[in-house]
Amino acid sequence: MNQPLLTIAVPCYNEEEVLHETAKQLTAVMNSLIEENLASEESKLLFIDDGSRDQTWAIIEELSQKNGFVTGIKLARNAGHQKALLAGLETAMGFSDCVISIDADLQDDISVIREFMIKFHEGYDIVYGVRDNRESDTFFKRVTAQGYYRFMKKMGVNLVYNHADYRLMSKRALEELSRYSEQNLFLRGVVTLIGLKTTEVYYARKERFAGISKYPLKKMLAFAFEGITSFSIAPIRWITLIGFLSFISSSIAGIYAILVKVMGHAAIGWASLIISVWFLGGLMLMSIGLIGEYIGKIYQETKQRPRYGIETDTFSNAFIQRKAV
Ligand code: UDP
Ligand code: MG
Repeated sequence: MNQPLLTIAVPCYNEEEVLHETAKQLTAVMNSLIEENLASEESKLLFIDDGSRDQTWAIIEELSQKNGFVTGIKLARNAGHQKALLAGLETAMGFSDCVISIDADLQDDISVIREFMIKFHEGYDIVYGVRDNRESDTFFKRVTAQGYYRFMKKMGVNLVYNHADYRLMSKRALEELSRYSEQNLFLRGVVTLIGLKTTEVYYARKERFAGISKYPLKKMLAFAFEGITSFSIAPIRWITLIGFLSFISSSIAGIYAILVKVMGHAAIGWASLIISVWFLGGLMLMSIGLIGEYIGKIYQETKQRPRYGIETDTFSNAFIQRKAV
């Protein structure tokens, strides 16, 4: 019987320190999957070089010549983790029966790849890797992440708790995914909208074994904010509500002030005046900023720019080399 062709898609941004080890470990996993008849011998490791400025692409090319599993695509510029991953998924979709996405630093436990494949054989289209602890994270990251999931849930965004982008998707799920053509891509939110048959597997997340995080606080905050504004218009509604409440309360205060004046105790305070000016000014600026955020999104979406560009890949390199001889 034909086994499914699995592609493991690995986005890489300046990952020269980890790539050799990552390829080695994933190759071992591939071999054991093939041995167990869980994946086809044609299965692939697809490395996506997200515009790295170090030796990442050179290493991918070198690996692809030595290691039959390894293929790669090189994006024309740094498109960011989510879009790099999307480039990988869309590339792999053409020739794979299922794709597993994983970070290059192997923080996610690769031994559960086997469970992913077993679930796929059982007929699941999407298998989420879910971290069952966050011990490898800093206290700060743990607390903010937890708060974030709660917050997103309150706003009606359905995220899989403690799931990052470590997951398996079937060809069918990927085809569905590629119909979501939004620019501001928040993959882990979009994937939950696809539906189909889904399940979860649990694992412990480790520390990055080499190199530094490519997600500094600034990128993390941007990513979190992106997640909110791409998926929910609840903040706009809150602003409207706050505006409405402050309108009501200032109207009441106004009536009171007029009554005081009419009754002749005209001790109208400068302080209360200036405070309300500042309060309303702040509120309005905040509202305008937030509305601007959404309008900015509309602006970006209407341009329909390509989300990434592929500069080269190891497939066409091989093709060019074959043509040259
Ligand atoms: N990454 C990427 N493009 C970027 C930033 C990160 O492709 O602009 C990749 C990175 O190489 C890694 C994955 O995204 O494979 C997750 O990044 P990292 O491990 O640094 O994030 P953390 O685990 O610290 O959240
Ligand atoms: Mg990492």
